[in-house]
Amino acid sequence: MDYRSLWASLNMDLEKHDVLCAVLPSLYGDIYLTQEGRPQSMDYFDFVISEVHGLRIQELADARREGRKIFGLFCLYVPVELILAVEGVAVGICAGAQFWVPDGEKVLPGNLCPLIKASLGAWLSATCPYMQMCDFLIGETTCDGKKKAWEILGQHVPMHVMALPPMRRECDVASFGREVRLLRDELEKVSGHKVTAENLQKGVAVMQEQRAVLERIYRARQADPVPISGKDALLVSQIAFYDDPVRFNEKAARLAGELEKRVAEKQGVFPAGTPRIMITGSPMVIPNWKVHHLIETSGAAVVCEEACTGTRYFENQVEAREDLDEQLDALAQRYMQINCACFTPNERRIDDILRMVRDWRVDGVVYYSLQFCHGYAVEYHLVEQALKKAGIPVLRVETDYSDDTGQLKIRLEAFIEMLKS
Ligand code: SF4
Ligand code: SF4
Repeated sequence: MDYRSLWASLNMDLEKHDVLCAVLPSLYGDIYLTQEGRPQSMDYFDFVISEVHGLRIQELADARREGRKIFGLFCLYVPVELILAVEGVAVGICAGAQFWVPDGEKVLPGNLCPLIKASLGAWLSATCPYMQMCDFLIGETTCDGKKKAWEILGQHVPMHVMALPPMRRECDVASFGREVRLLRDELEKVSGHKVTAENLQKGVAVMQEQRAVLERIYRARQADPVPISGKDALLVSQIAFYDDPVRFNEKAARLAGELEKRVAEKQGVFPAGTPRIMITGSPMVIPNWKVHHLIETSGAAVVCEEACTGTRYFENQVEAREDLDEQLDALAQRYMQINCACFTPNERRIDDILRMVRDWRVDGVVYYSLQFCHGYAVEYHLVEQALKKAGIPVLRVETDYSDDTGQLKIRLEAFIEMLKS
């Protein structure tokens, strides 16, 4: 199908966008479609990627025509439940490709996290249809780079920024509760719909289902042999950020069922006994598949991700409450349980990593931080201490979106060889 008129209606730079569109299919083909023994249910997710700038954008345009508002988010701390309650559509739009970095660097310093540079570059270059489609953006004050970048982005697009407290004491959770209410007020203004106990409950139910099904998929990965590659599991998490959530839940449940059957039949994508790797650290957003791909083509399997594109996204449910005010508090409590390195202290993340090492039978941890992502880079020291104490080998890799695969592959291969010996 030809989407050029749709893209043109979004004021996109079509020529530049063509360059991006020309790269993705071969990149995806090389990394994903060369895998053997993939679960059948991945066909849906392959289809979603093949239509990433097509059908989903058409759906968003249709939703807009029906009067629904499109809200763009960059981080896990924005309660999607509230957006669903006002009949909005939430799309995760942080960007994961080098393609957008040079445009981001026109307004941002070079020594900043590539995720932030790419997010701004995607807007400034008018080549991301999701960005162009958004009626309203919601940022947060998680790390310094992001909170200052929003001042620049906010010059171009209507935007609300949620203040995230740097600690998690009772008073901080209460302050985040106030932020949740401020966001509610903004969403009501933009959408023209009121948040009620009933529509919020419905939004919560959709997201609870999504979290539960992702948990099922992750749990299946505890098996040896592992029934799905880390690359495929990462893709499913990434797609959760921008797909229609009700359809996603149905398709992900189909995948979870298939994986559970594979586990019962001891069917894996790698032989039993393949070294099992956990990845922990900065988020990996589409199309950032580099480290997973390098690991899984070097003789190991990625079995879990302690990351925003992993367990942080779906762990912890919202406590069920009847009254609207209590529901808003329950939302704040749930979201404040996400263990981002922006918090101090953040021992719960370390506890989580150790628990996951046990539950997913991890042989070695790859600690991944995006270049200039200081929160995760600094937190490495304490994570390394805890892992060493537990006798778990860890390798730290710092990378950006550039093609530095040669160096990385050598280090990862040496680490995997060491795990095998
Ligand atoms: S790492 Fe922290 S700031 Fe970045 S997306 Fe995750 S929760 Fe948000
Ligand atoms: S990866 Fe790190 S530096 Fe980049 S936006 Fe997320 S928290 Fe900030």
